[in-house]
Amino acid sequence: MILVLLGPPGSGKGTQAKLIEKELGLTHISTGDILRRAVVDGTPLGREAQGYLDAGELVPDRVVINLVADRLRNGSGPGFLLDGFPRTVAQAEGLETVLDRAGGSVDRVISIQVRRDELLRRLVGRSAVEGRSDDSQDVIAKRLEVYEQQTRPVVGFYGQKSVLVEVNGEQTVGEVFAEIQRRISSGGK
Ligand code: AMP
Repeated sequence: MILVLLGPPGSGKGTQAKLIEKELGLTHISTGDILRRAVVDGTPLGREAQGYLDAGELVPDRVVINLVADRLRNGSGPGFLLDGFPRTVAQAEGLETVLDRAGGSVDRVISIQVRRDELLRRLVGRSAVEGRSDDSQDVIAKRLEVYEQQTRPVVGFYGQKSVLVEVNGEQTVGEVFAEIQRRISSGGK
C-alpha cells in the first residue's frame, strides 16, 4: 500500500503521519525529517538542502525524487506512508515512474485542509514552542506561498486519478485521525 499525505505547513500532517504509521504499520517516509536530519549531520545532501530549508523554498525535484526512490527500494513491510512528498507535479510524475517500474501505484492520497488564518495562528505558536529555524514569520509566509503555488496543483493531479481524499484539518487531532481512518477503509467516500 502506498499512501500519500498532503497538507500545508501547520495542517497537522506530521502528527497524523505518526498516528497512521502506528495504526497501519506503514513505513513512514518524511522528506522534511530526512532533510532536516541531513542538515544536522552535515552530509552532502544536508549541505545541498540547507539553503532551501532556511529560505522556506523547495529542494530541487531531482534531489527529493532520488531520495524517496532510494527509500522505497530499500524499504520493506506492508507499504509506505509518504509525508511531505510529492510537493510538485514533477515530483508526482517522478514518483509515478518509480512505482510503475516496480508494478505499483499510489493507492490513496489524503489532503488535509486548513484555512490560511488558522495555519498562520498554529505556525506562529509552533515557532514559539519548537524553535524550528524555518518557523520565523517571513519564512512561514514563504512556505505557505510555496504550498499554494507549487503543491496545490498536486492535489488536482491526484484528484484526476480518483485516489484523492480531502479531510477537514480544523478538528481535534483525534477527529482528524478518525476521519482519515474512515475514509481509507471506505474506499475514499
Ligand atoms: P516539511 O517538514 O515537510 O514542512 O519540510 C520542511 C522543508 O523541507 C520544506 O520547506 C522544504 O524546504 C524541504 N522539503 C521537504 N519535503 C520536500 C519536497 N518533497 N520537495 C522539496 N523540498 C522539500
